[in-house]
Amino acid sequence: MARPTRFEHYRWLGDKRSLVVHDLDNTSDACAIDELMASEQFASFGPDELIEAKNRCYNPCRHCVAA
Ligand SMILES: [Zn+2]
Repeated sequence: MARPTRFEHYRWLGDKRSLVVHDLDNTSDACAIDELMASEQFASFGPDELIEAKNRCYNPCRHCVAA
C-alpha cells in the first residue's frame, strides 16, 4: 500500500479518534490509512518514534505494529 504523500518522511501515524498509532512501513488494508488521511484526524510525532506515540497515550495498531 502506498505511503500517504504528506507522510513520506514519517514512519508513525496516529489516529486521534481511536488513539491508535500505525507503522507506515508495514500498513495493511485493515489499517484504513486512506480513510484516516481523508478524515484529517491524524497525528505525527516528534520525535517520530513508537515510544513517543506511546507516551502520548496511543496504542499500537494490531495490524501493522509488531508486538
Ligand atoms: Zn495499522
